[in-house]
Amino acid sequence: MDWNEFGFLVPHEINDCTDESDCLSVCPFNPFPEETVKTETEIANLFFPDDTTTKKLEKLGKYKNTYVGYSNEFRATSSSGGIASYVTKQLFERNIIEYVVNVQQVGEKFEYSINKKGNPVVKSSKTRYYPVTMDKVFQKIEELDGNVAIVSIPCFLKGVRLAQYQRPALKEKINFTIGIICGGVKSKFFTEYLTQKAGAFNDDVEKVEYRVKNLDSTAGDYSFGVKVAGKEDLKTVKMRSLGDMWGTGLFKCNACDFCDDVSGELADIALGDAWIRPYVNDGGGTNVMITRSNLADTIIKQGMSNGDLHADDLPESEFIRSQKGSFTHRQDCLPYRADKLSNIENIPPKRPRKKRLSPEVKLIQKKRRETRKQSLLIWKDNPNVDFFDLKMKPYLKSLRSITKFNHYKRGIIDRMKRMF
Ligand SMILES: Cc1cc2nc3c(=O)[nH]c(=O)nc-3n(C[C@H](O)[C@H](O)[C@H](O)COP(=O)(O)OP(=O)(O)OC[C@H]3O[C@@H](n4cnc5c(N)ncnc54)[C@H](O)[C@@H]3O)c2cc1C
Repeated sequence: MDWNEFGFLVPHEINDCTDESDCLSVCPFNPFPEETVKTETEIANLFFPDDTTTKKLEKLGKYKNTYVGYSNEFRATSSSGGIASYVTKQLFERNIIEYVVNVQQVGEKFEYSINKKGNPVVKSSKTRYYPVTMDKVFQKIEELDGNVAIVSIPCFLKGVRLAQYQRPALKEKINFTIGIICGGVKSKFFTEYLTQKAGAFNDDVEKVEYRVKNLDSTAGDYSFGVKVAGKEDLKTVKMRSLGDMWGTGLFKCNACDFCDDVSGELADIALGDAWIRPYVNDGGGTNVMITRSNLADTIIKQGMSNGDLHADDLPESEFIRSQKGSFTHRQDCLPYRADKLSNIENIPPKRPRKKRLSPEVKLIQKKRRETRKQSLLIWKDNPNVDFFDLKMKPYLKSLRSITKFNHYKRGIIDRMKRMF
């Protein structure tokens, strides 16, 4: 993998790679997959038997149960409720795995690493919104003595499942997957932008923290922090003060607009943030969880009963509500983007989804695509926050206006529906 000019890691060809050749067979965005692994639906059928994943919804795929809560041990040192770190620790303690493959800080950058049993789990806690690649560590997995868990976002896990499909030995070796629910991968420009916003220069950075929690406030009121060489304190900037960095598509990878897996459909357990009341009022952070294997479900249920976890069952409708924006953008609006707003020739096959979109939702989609593209072009040419903010202003202003109008209209329609 190499860095491209827009701050993303992209594969480079080693040998000839034609449409039919094997090199695409583990690519999560392969436009020509075999029928048996055509979409997440077919792949989930290969990995999760119906008698385990007894429930199924178009939005969530196959699953067993949904929960909400946090780990008493890991919450304070994690991005959200610390369930990813808790489940990792449990897998080691139960001798299910000898290794975990996850993302951690190496120098001032982030990388996929192989962590052996005995290493402190907390070393790799916290989520990093920075491009990473699994290519180097993945090649070593088969040589490891013992089983392996992988922690990753849905598209990477799709690649892992496709590799397991190709090489059955990997199916036994990688015996647990933890999915990190993902609203989109950001270019490294995102981190450069936040670093400057926090008042630091990119060359001086020793360490960055994407989520410095505010325990006296709400879960959404967190800061980005940067530690500069030779200084003790973190320089921070409140994310809220920067406007909407997620819904607008700023610095987002193009492929993410063509991914409809919101709930980590191929993971034994997938975890996100509980962006719903009352949990969102707690600045400590709370996870939503969705289980798909018996072991994952047992770990959560036992954690709830022995007091390791402060957690409850969560109705699936609430799970969906916690990721509402992502479901609308990634599932409802994907067919429109694919049909009208993309110049990509070969979009990978997607599950059919029928949703009539209003003209303003279509316009929002168009403006988000434009905002995403412009943010990458503008930062590439001049990586300076003041210049960037000035140049992005018209794009963000018109996107904000139409989004506001859409919320207002939807609010009126919802109120009328409740009245009649
Ligand atoms: C790119 C990205 C987008 C996200 N978008 C959403 C979203 O739209 N909605 C939502 O609810 N939640 C989203 N999250 C997930 C959320 O922020 C929490 O990370 C998740 O709920 C797990 O919290 P935790 O406290 O249990 O994790 P922790 O206990 O802090 O552990 C985090 C785990 O994630 C691993 N990790 C860190 N960075 C990455 C990375 N870049 N890729 C893969 N694994 C990584 C770590 O190694 C660690 O194992 C996103 C996370 C990422 C990385």
